[in-house]
Amino acid sequence: MTSSILSLDRNALEGALFEMGFPSYRAQQIIKWLHQHQIKTFDKMHNLPKLLRQQLEEAFTLEDLGINHEHVSKDGTVKWLLKVDEQNSIETVYIPESNRGTLCISSQVGCALDCSFCSTGKQGFNRNLTTGEIISQLRIAKQRLCAINPTQKHPITNVVMMGMGEPLANEKNLYPALRLMLDDHAYGLAYRRVTVSTSGIVPAMKRMNSELPQIALAVSLHAANDQLRDQLVPINKKYPLEQLMAVCNSYYEGQRKRQITYEYVMLDGINDSKDDARALKKLLKRAPGKINLIPFNPFPNTSYKQSPAKRIDQFRDILNDTYITTVRKTRGDDIAAACGQLAGDITDKARRRIKIYEKTSQ
Ligand code: SF4
Repeated sequence: MTSSILSLDRNALEGALFEMGFPSYRAQQIIKWLHQHQIKTFDKMHNLPKLLRQQLEEAFTLEDLGINHEHVSKDGTVKWLLKVDEQNSIETVYIPESNRGTLCISSQVGCALDCSFCSTGKQGFNRNLTTGEIISQLRIAKQRLCAINPTQKHPITNVVMMGMGEPLANEKNLYPALRLMLDDHAYGLAYRRVTVSTSGIVPAMKRMNSELPQIALAVSLHAANDQLRDQLVPINKKYPLEQLMAVCNSYYEGQRKRQITYEYVMLDGINDSKDDARALKKLLKRAPGKINLIPFNPFPNTSYKQSPAKRIDQFRDILNDTYITTVRKTRGDDIAAACGQLAGDITDKARRRIKIYEKTSQ
């Protein structure tokens, strides 16, 4: 099967060019055509020799994901339902703010991790996205946002890998996509503006710390003790808080002294008491960071409810004297684009739970 040229980062492109007998500097030209000029056919790469364009056309495909639906919320949030194959679709969301525009990208078709408060988790898991499918979300968003508002030159300033799926369960395809986001001749995003959010796959967090040491990290914490976290984020059974906080500490204490963002969904009567806030405060002593409280966004067939605003404020106030604590503004909830509501359209919900829920002595 012919592979997508969008799946190749600079190194991979240079390797392909070497095989074809062309110099490596052509990789930069190709990257610019694909990711800055957003061309859709190889014949538009005018500064490449005709022979190279022909060979690229024979060796690779150049196709974006199809747009099934585009929803624009009244607050300006845009959600795309993108077709990844005949049976499956994923979702990508753009959140505009006064000083930045954040694109929330999916990494998998569904998710196998089955967090109990998450709509994506309830959809089951089908497969990992390829690098080309991850990066195509950025290409499509850039094209569509410029079409929606032609006066915007650079609508996307930040990327968060917080859409459907657990990005660190798809490292092989994630890393080349991240490298393209950071490549000055592709999307040129600053390291601190690209965030990978994980539910806590400890060995992969360690690998990311050495592979891409400056990428921003967000950890979906949601509970400050193992008993509750086992229920909310079942991967905790394999990588309990002791291990998770140790790796967070290595990010915090490491050479680059990176601050982590901890995500904490506020569930009425489940994890939102004053004692929960105090326990969280104590837990984070090992690896201090920013805390982002997320009011729960209900979805069909969930028994969880959003914590009342007053309790969220109390929770924030307990933490705020030690850690910067913010309450995430709910955006795009009229189009089900808010955090934890992304569901896509997944068939063949294999729900491959792999061995992720087994206890480990690691
Ligand atoms: S919260 Fe993230 S890791 Fe958990 S099921 Fe949802 S998408 Fe997967």
